[in-house]
Amino acid sequence: MSVLIPTTLAEALTAASANPAATVLAGGTDLMVEVNEGRRVVAEVITVNRVAELRSWTHDPAAGVLRIGAGVTWAELEAEPFTEWVPALAQAARTVGSPQIRHAGTIGGNIATCSPAGDGLPPLAALGAVVHLASAGAERDVPFAEFMTGPKRTVRQPGELITAVTVPLVRGFQGYAKVGVRNAMVISTASAALVADRDGRSIRLALGSVGPTILRCPEAEAAAAAGVDWQAGAVSAAVVAEFADLARAAARPIDDHRSTAAYRRHAVGVLAGRLLRRAFPNE
Ligand SMILES: Cc1cc2nc3c(=O)[nH]c(=O)nc-3n(C[C@H](O)[C@H](O)[C@H](O)COP(=O)(O)OP(=O)(O)OC[C@H]3O[C@@H](n4cnc5c(N)ncnc54)[C@H](O)[C@@H]3O)c2cc1C
Repeated sequence: MSVLIPTTLAEALTAASANPAATVLAGGTDLMVEVNEGRRVVAEVITVNRVAELRSWTHDPAAGVLRIGAGVTWAELEAEPFTEWVPALAQAARTVGSPQIRHAGTIGGNIATCSPAGDGLPPLAALGAVVHLASAGAERDVPFAEFMTGPKRTVRQPGELITAVTVPLVRGFQGYAKVGVRNAMVISTASAALVADRDGRSIRLALGSVGPTILRCPEAEAAAAAGVDWQAGAVSAAVVAEFADLARAAARPIDDHRSTAAYRRHAVGVLAGRLLRRAFPNE
């Protein structure tokens, strides 16, 4: 087995383009499980965790965007300043695995694996994130909604690296909630991210673990945006109930070893309703 250890983005992209069959290794918290369980055979490895450009982030208040390098870890994302700028993503970061997993695991690894249960993904979908892909000599930007095409399936091509993800900065409430079989160290059986854009007066809701991809809920979003009292920061019980029902209707859950489809559908409505109430807490 060969292991390439680039230390610059240019070296990493050259290595990935020259070895499109090679396996990219970031924190290893997804990959090593697959290797150890014999589900993935690895011949050539390109590590990306020493590439400074991937481990950095930039905040551009003038453009209203935050660009997060693929190698930024959950331990970084669960803390300030991300708690202020992208609270839903920071809340999701806090729920990933254990402190050890969060120190090694990266947002780029979560996006590349693209499990419907990936905790980073509903906030990215709700925020309207853009995924940046690059190979030697070429770059492309893909909206997250087009990036994920199925369970653990994406439009990323062999030889391409995820370099970063950009999220627009949104003023207003953001929240992430998940349920699993216990409170910590758990893969979600249902999850939801809600972003309330006070300036655009829109509500965005993205659901995880209840479909083949992360699901946005246009009907629930439109009903809530029209039904909440933006001025007073309040929402009625009837609007919350309708929002929860429309979220349930948007879900496409399956029965599997983690849960039944019926429980997932019920739970995701509860999570959506709870987040809407938190977003508009006034009486
Ligand atoms: C005990 C345990 C608990 C966990 N709990 C959770 C949880 O609660 N929630 C959750 O969402 N996940 C969880 N995970 C999964 C995992 O920690 C996350 O998905 C993490 O974000 C993966 O990041 P990584 O850097 O470790 O990726 P790696 O394992 O290094 O890589 C994952 C995949 O992404 C590819 N890849 C990595 N970086 C790039 C890049 N820059 N460009 C292209 N491809 C790339 C790799 O080739 C590989 O296919 C858990 C894992 C373990 C072992």
